[in-house]
Amino acid sequence: MTNRVALVTGASQGIGRACAKALAASGARVIAGARQAEKLASLVDEIREGGGSADAVSLDVRDQQSVNAMTAAHGKAINILVNNAGITGDGLAMRMRDADWQRVIDTNLTGSFRCARAVMRPMLRKRWGRIINIASVVGLSGNPGQANYTASKAGVIGLTKTLALELAGRNVTVNAIAPGFVATAMTEALDETSRSKILSRVPLGRMGRLDEIAAAVCFLASDEAGYITGHVLNVSGGLYM
Ligand code: NAP
Repeated sequence: MTNRVALVTGASQGIGRACAKALAASGARVIAGARQAEKLASLVDEIREGGGSADAVSLDVRDQQSVNAMTAAHGKAINILVNNAGITGDGLAMRMRDADWQRVIDTNLTGSFRCARAVMRPMLRKRWGRIINIASVVGLSGNPGQANYTASKAGVIGLTKTLALELAGRNVTVNAIAPGFVATAMTEALDETSRSKILSRVPLGRMGRLDEIAAAVCFLASDEAGYITGHVLNVSGGLYM
């Protein structure tokens, strides 16, 4: 992916960090965006020490000004966008506060839309681009206790398909990855009972690894995936089929 520039949102840890490292290892210059500057700095150091190319950018996807600042600094160069930044705010719908609903929708869905809108014009002009949205299998299946999260991820899937249709004429592909249950800070927050309950439903019988999600992202970002658009790729060990 030499000559490609990839913005990864939420690159400070977890899946985003793994995607940034894998894209850099494939030759792309990585722009690593998130709010936690120290974690981004250590990621950039690690990539550079390994011979790759990376820069950090302070990015809060809930804040349009922050997205504007990122676009002003790097927007024209970006030809791969990995919309990965995401949060949970679990609770039964009956008791869910507006603030918890809104924070999750703003980050996961509106944030993805904002970042895609920010980078699509230069991609269209260059007639090459890749937008990869990190959704979730629960955006397809639903999940009790996650009305906000599942709605945001179902929204991301709808957004993926519409953008795929809007941008296809200029050779910009838009796809989603729907991870299942991956070992990150997000899933560490679950109690042991919930974890073993979810794991018992995974046909492959284990959690997904970060590198397995990153490999799917690298594939969809590659030239070889140029005829795939509007697709939702489940990387879930069979949790959702
Ligand atoms: P994680 O370890 O909690 O990381 C979340 C990342 O999102 C962090 O780097 C965080 O960076 C960033 N982020 C959160 N709010 C942000 C904001 N307002 N602006 C910019 N960045 C923000 O979670 P993860 O498990 O790696 O999740 C990554 C993505 O995969 C999410 O979209 C998640 O929904 C999805 N996913 C995860 C799983 C799983 O099992 N782990 C399954 C399906 C889907 P800062 O705090 O530094 O801003």
